[in-house]
Amino acid sequence: MTYSEWFYQHGDKHKAIMDRLEHLTMDEVIEYFRFENMVEKEPDFCELYAENKKCHDIAGLNCYLCACPHFRFKDKGFSMREDKMLYSVCSINSKEGGRFITEDAIHQDCSQCYIPHRESYIKNVFDRDWFEIMENVC
Ligand code: SF4
Repeated sequence: MTYSEWFYQHGDKHKAIMDRLEHLTMDEVIEYFRFENMVEKEPDFCELYAENKKCHDIAGLNCYLCACPHFRFKDKGFSMREDKMLYSVCSINSKEGGRFITEDAIHQDCSQCYIPHRESYIKNVFDRDWFEIMENVC
């Protein structure tokens, strides 16, 4: 699956849920997207839910964003770095961020960064339209 395929499929899934939550306030929506509730109510939203597994093992994990507004990707790659193509980066160079480096590719590693998974951050960037929040990602 390419970055774009995941991105647009995920945005569509998010919209399908939000269309059913129009009656909820911002705080109620964010509460609804808490990992524990989503595993129960929206089992198809994330493939990890089937195993009741978290993408980031943190208390208070919130799935509203899932992706990150600071993430930047290009399916064809941004540029070559020596003999490797750079496909994704963090636009704020988060100190919790890293890189996955393979034989011919460099990808942003967000596995240790919790920025988009915390409710305080989600409230700051909140929009009912997920694509609006992610407008600079690609
Ligand atoms: S490292 Fe953190 S801030 Fe940067 S793109 Fe990844 S999740 Fe977002």
